[in-house]
Amino acid sequence: MQYRNLGRTGLKVSALSFGASSLGSEFRQIDEAEGIRTVHLAIDLGLNFIDVSPFYGRTTAETVLGKALREISRDQYYLATKVGRYDTTSFDFSRERVTRSVDESLERLGLDHIDLIQCHDVEYGSLDQIVDETLPALRDLQQKGKVRFVGITGLPLKIFRHVIEQTGIDTILSYCRYSLNDTSLDELIPFLKDSDIGIISASPLSMGLLTRRGAPSWHPASEKIRDHCLRAVRFCEKRGHDIAKLALQFALANPEIHTTLVGTASPENLKKNADWIEEPIDEELLHQVQVLLNPIRNESWLSGKPENN
Ligand code: NAD
Repeated sequence: MQYRNLGRTGLKVSALSFGASSLGSEFRQIDEAEGIRTVHLAIDLGLNFIDVSPFYGRTTAETVLGKALREISRDQYYLATKVGRYDTTSFDFSRERVTRSVDESLERLGLDHIDLIQCHDVEYGSLDQIVDETLPALRDLQQKGKVRFVGITGLPLKIFRHVIEQTGIDTILSYCRYSLNDTSLDELIPFLKDSDIGIISASPLSMGLLTRRGAPSWHPASEKIRDHCLRAVRFCEKRGHDIAKLALQFALANPEIHTTLVGTASPENLKKNADWIEEPIDEELLHQVQVLLNPIRNESWLSGKPENN
């Protein structure tokens, strides 16, 4: 496993990291014991960065993760969670709510501090409030030792530049922007590097689009995107390849991205993921799949308030 500095935080994070939304049964109903085993295996395989949120499974993911973490020594992982998003349409980025939210997460996770606290999907809120109220509240929690670093997450790339130009943050988490079908995060990387911001890229499998099981029903991609991804899945399948392997290898090949979060609650899939990234990519297959995905390249969907897209 490779390890990279997460911007200026001083955290040395594994190139492949563990996204815990699956523990909240976001993609399928999971078996809790199997989910816990997956977390333990992640640590054994050298993944040292774990991302979760109160939103995932509406607090279930944090609760299940907390049970798993009780059996792991605290110096073996960095824990990132989030504030501000509590349900599909329920957001609250106020000082009072995010302060309480951190205490609730600490309780569920059974921890006394969080390594990285992130404002979850800021495009749904007012960016002025994020800059003037939410981030200062999180910096106050940093002073108290409850959190070590502060970041933001979201889908539209312009939110990151907007917030960073107004205030200091330590990391950004971008999702579905660096995978086989969408590499638009590339354009932002020079700016993020100049600002020494930690770069976390999530959803290398495009939240299930680039898997044999396909995307979950809540996936916001258009029919056109779903259709082209499905064609790519079938193309690989016919040739005896699993598109998830190609997708993961592709996403992990960019050394400018400090860590890539992949989600799974299956030990078998996690082991495959860790093994796949050590193997060389099939360049010919990559080229063929990229040609197939060209018609939807960098096509995304709206997220949050229109003015933030
Ligand atoms: P992903 O692209 O990692 O895809 C997850 C899906 O792929 C799941 O259905 C999983 O079962 C499946 N999968 C994983 N490994 C597989 C394998 N080897 N073979 C076949 N299928 C496999 O998407 P994700 O889980 O949404 O993203 C990863 C993590 O990133 C999340 O858990 C979360 O922590 C984080 N994230 C954050 C945000 C945000 O902050 N707004 C958004 C998206 C993701």
